[in-house]
This record gives sequence, C-alpha cells and structure tokens, in this order.
Amino acid sequence: MLRNLFQFVFVVTGFLASLSLAADGPQRDYDLLLKNFRLVDVESGQVRDGQLLLIEGNRIAAILPAAQQAEVAAKEVVDLGGNYLIPGLWDMHVHFEGRDLIEDNALLFPVYLAYGITAVRDAASDLAPEVLNWRTEVAERKRLGPRIFTAGQKFEGIDSIWKGDLEVGDRASMLAGMDKLEKMNVDFIKITENTMDPQLFIDTVAEANHRGHLVSTHVPYGVSIGELADAGLSSIEHASYVLRLGNADEAAIAKAVRAGELSKEVAAERYRAGFDQRQAIEGYRMLAQKGVAVTPTLIGGRQLAYLAETDHSDDAFQRYLTQRFMSKYQWRIDRMAGEGDKEREARKARYQLIASQLPLLADAGVVLLAGSDSAALNTYVYPAEALHTELVLFQEAGLSPLQALQAATVNGARFMGQWRDYGSIAEGKRADLVVLTRNPLEDIRATQDIDSVISGGTLYRRPKLDSMLEQAAQARAKLDSSREAAGR
Ligand SMILES: [Zn+2]
Repeated sequence: MLRNLFQFVFVVTGFLASLSLAADGPQRDYDLLLKNFRLVDVESGQVRDGQLLLIEGNRIAAILPAAQQAEVAAKEVVDLGGNYLIPGLWDMHVHFEGRDLIEDNALLFPVYLAYGITAVRDAASDLAPEVLNWRTEVAERKRLGPRIFTAGQKFEGIDSIWKGDLEVGDRASMLAGMDKLEKMNVDFIKITENTMDPQLFIDTVAEANHRGHLVSTHVPYGVSIGELADAGLSSIEHASYVLRLGNADEAAIAKAVRAGELSKEVAAERYRAGFDQRQAIEGYRMLAQKGVAVTPTLIGGRQLAYLAETDHSDDAFQRYLTQRFMSKYQWRIDRMAGEGDKEREARKARYQLIASQLPLLADAGVVLLAGSDSAALNTYVYPAEALHTELVLFQEAGLSPLQALQAATVNGARFMGQWRDYGSIAEGKRADLVVLTRNPLEDIRATQDIDSVISGGTLYRRPKLDSMLEQAAQARAKLDSSREAAGR
C-alpha cells in the first residue's frame, strides 16, 4: 500500500515536472543555442562534449545534455562544428596610456574582443578619466570592447618619471589620494616605486587593504616582500621582483636601503650575485600562505632581451597601431642602444631565470595572473596579441597548458572577486566565451586559433571578427594620414 502510494506520488510528480518543462520548455525562447562543441572545463581540465549551451541576454541560462535539444527553443541555433569552447580571456595587466594617444588606444577595443579578450585590468595610466569613461561605455554597451577593471591613477612619490600619477610625499596626501580614487570608483589600487618613500609605500598598501581594496604593486628596494605581504598586498606585478626572495638577506638589504646605508645599485648587485633557488622557493611558499598573487608579465622583458636579433618591421599587428603609438617604443630602444654582447647575454640569462620561476611559484601554491603589460611605452608588447604570446611563454617556462589557461580565466576572475559571474563556463555566469578550432589543453597556442567570440551574450563569428579587425586597421590608417596632412 505504502509502496503504491510512493509510486503514485512519483508518477504524479513526474507528470507535473513534464508539464512544467512543456510550459517553459519549447515556449521559452532562449536568445542563442550553441551545439556541437567541446566544453573546456578550466577548473578540472576536462573536456566534455554532448552538451547544449543556452544563452539568454548576457548570461549562460542553461547547459543541457544534447539529447534535450527537442525540449528547448532558441531564436538562433549555432552549430560550432565540434570546436572548443573556453571562457573569455582576461588580460590582467594592460595600460591605456598617452595623453596624445586617446583615439589610438580607443580603436584597439574591438581588436581585444576579436582576440578573444573579454576583460582587461588596466594597471593605471595618464588617461584615467578616459579609461573610466570607457569602462562605463563598455558596461552600457555603447562601446564595443572588453570589460575594463582599472586602477585609475597609480600612487607614486614626488617627481617620479611617470606621467599622470598620483604623487604623494606624506601620509596626509596619501589619504587624500585614496579618497580621490574611491570617488573615481576604481577597481583596485596600484603603487609603483620610482620615488616613493619606502615607509609611505608600506603605509599605502596597508591603508588600501584596510579600506577593503585590492592592491597591486611593484617592490621598492627599501621594502621587503614580506613586509608588503604583511601589510595586505594582493599581487606583485612583474615576476622579476620575486627573484629577491632568493636572497636570505632580503629583509636586511631592504632595511639598509631604507636607512640610507645601501644604494639601490648596490642592493641590485647583491640580489643578482646572491640568488639561491631553495631560498626563493621558501619565499614563494610565504607568498602563497599570505595570499599574494603574482602577475609575471614575461613578454616585456623577453622582447627587450631579444630585441637586437628580432626584426619587428613586418609584425602584422602594426596595422592597428598608429605611427604615433609606435613612436613611443623608441625610448626603451634608445635606452638599450649602448649595450654590448655581454649586457645582451646577461639580459637573456635574467629573462630565462625569471621565466624558470613560474612552475616553482605555481608548485608553491602562488596564484599566477596572466598579464601582458601591453602599453605604448612597452616596446613591441602589442595590445591584445601580447596576452597570447604571454601564455605561450608560460607554457615554454614549464607551466601546463591548463595552468596557463587558468591564469587567463579562473585566476583573474577569482582575484578580482568576480568568480560568481566570470572565469568559467557555468549556468548563471556571464556569456563571455571563445570558440577555438584546436584544444588549448594540448597546446596553449590554440588560443590564437579563434573561430568565434561571445561577449555579453553577443556572438561574433569569424567573418564578423575579421571585419572588426579591418575597421580598426582603417581607423588606424585614417588617424595616421590625418596627422600626416596636419604635419603632426
Ligand atoms: Zn605595467
């Protein structure tokens, strides 16, 4: 009797469930149905097929077994031809910079999308007001481009070499600067070390952390990495700094620099001469334990280390870069002009040493963020394209393709506190996706073979991506010729 009752309830419940499926099944019109793809699970590294992905508005509404296709309806059904579906890529370190390069930067936004990059983290520049506007315009879909997270202006000391930074010489001005950045509603705090007082540098990290902000920095010679971690640092920008952890005297060296007993040059020399790998790994464990991430930005150093033997004149990406943009590359080239073979070899060795740290950082549990540091001032680090090269350099450095992919998806979204909405392919998350013709888990170079991009639920197939790129190239050509005509 009881068993029959259970069966009855089961049958009725099943009947009601099928009714409700019928009610919001075929009648519910999803915007987009994707089928025939291999879903790359960037958390587990598994590749799954036999699924449907349904998009409604800018969200992934459902992921269902392919067998259920008859039960769902969509305005548009797209067969992805068995290609690989990954989350949109995030470049966690870019700069939109140059007061005279506003249009030059702006024309690159669709290029980012065409390169599968659906979000960027702008690590501050002299274009803070423009970047903040662009952030809003992209969010409101008035401008085609990647979602922007920005630090706005970065903190520096008085009379630094950087333009448009927030220069502070004491605690009061630092606090006022922090208020100003909060009014700008920046997404994180960035600090660099050119002329900033070491103690004020630590205090700024602590203040940012105290106010609940993410804080990403360079490392001054007068401050140890442990001190920054203890003050609440979120990430170290550029892996070159972590080499200092390979010196057992790091804290003592920093202290001596801060006390004025040691010059930065001598400190640099001592770090170079006294690198110990085992010591460094200890330091990486400390970083992991204290939750400090690292954005390695390998490509900038590599481009400079191999500058002399590389001919960049035919680089295809230059079709999107104005002459004025490219002219900014010259300062680093000039700065290296006096270097001989010995210096060049030392640069390469240093690059290799930095790159070799990546698997060790990962093994120690440090979160790695993929960031290109593309910027007009960073020679031959091309916007958008550079992120893909950075991932190849990660792989060449010994990270697995999955680890490289995670650095450009999962890790960035988690780091920015955006995991609920971004970073993987799951129901309810933003429909920011990239379709690749090859499996990126076999070779990370596959991120460069883009079939389609989906940004905020909008699908851009290859011909559309090509036309976006063509338009950017034309905008670039127009800017160049109008400036030439005006003699500027
Ligand atoms: Zn940078």
